[in-house]
Amino acid sequence: MNKLLRLLQDGRFHSGQELGEALGVSRSAVWKHLQRIQNETALPLYKVPGRGYRLAEPLSLLAEDQLLPQLEALGWELYLFDALDSTNAEALRLLSTGRAPFLVVAESQSAGRGRRGRHWVSPFGQNLYCSLAFKVHGGTRQLSGMSLVVGLAVMQTLRGMGLPQAGLKWPNDVYVDGRKIGGILLELTGDPADECHVIAGIGINVNMADAKGIDQPWTSLREWIGMVDRNELLLTFAATLKTYLDRHLAAGFASLREEWEAAHIWQGQSCTLSTGAHELSGTVLGVDPQGGLRLMIDGVERSFSGGELSLRLDR
Ligand code: ATP
Repeated sequence: MNKLLRLLQDGRFHSGQELGEALGVSRSAVWKHLQRIQNETALPLYKVPGRGYRLAEPLSLLAEDQLLPQLEALGWELYLFDALDSTNAEALRLLSTGRAPFLVVAESQSAGRGRRGRHWVSPFGQNLYCSLAFKVHGGTRQLSGMSLVVGLAVMQTLRGMGLPQAGLKWPNDVYVDGRKIGGILLELTGDPADECHVIAGIGINVNMADAKGIDQPWTSLREWIGMVDRNELLLTFAATLKTYLDRHLAAGFASLREEWEAAHIWQGQSCTLSTGAHELSGTVLGVDPQGGLRLMIDGVERSFSGGELSLRLDR
């Protein structure tokens, strides 16, 4: 990330002269550079005569030197970007040249993806947007419940940060107090029955205080615990995710199923499952050993899985 923004991330005033000297450029070059940053990031910036420039709010920028040692210790290569279309899309592109496992992280996404082509709102420098690409051998058993396991890792990270009320909504959302704080999008390439690559995309709302374009209730860590150091959060999450993926690899989703059900916010409640073509109402019983949703419908237990399914709470 560019040096100028790093100098400003403390949210304090910095004079044009001080910034120019630090960068070895003129004051007018500083101003031009700042305008470009503003256009690219949409970060509000104050310019006050006699005092200089400051960001409307402090930022916690991602820093490669802070992230690299611990991610390397996990065996993950890091690709860090200021801006991407989507971290999942970049991970997919990198898979054609690079070797997994690797983690793609971006300060912002212009086309962050949710399920079924939905948009994930991803403003610059506020949240975490990352995708882990890794190889999976052994077919369907090794993939069962994978996106639920990633959800558990997000949820445990949030709980560890001081949000004990963080919970999960089948199949791939993380909620706090009835509002969405994170989402997961798993994509596969290769042969799921044999050897394939998984791209686990994760979005977590961290320091975002307001946002345009989210058409459902949402929250962020900041609302509950104040501003968060995003490097620390990313490292904590990465270590937690590695632990969960290792458990999943060793013993399958069945070994994590109870933990997942205990965290399901709508466990035992009346919900409607939309399959695209149909709507089915039933009581949520939990998940099956493959991570499919178990619903009691008219006295009969049925399991559902697949990317098009969407669950809503009956009011
Ligand atoms: P489902 O229950 O089927 O998963 P969903 O509406 O939660 O439905 P997702 O694909 O998981 O769909 O996520 C995309 C949706 O999440 C968007 O349509 C928007 O409503 C919401 N959203 C987008 N960006 C954010 C964000 N940064 N934080 C919270 N929610 C968001």
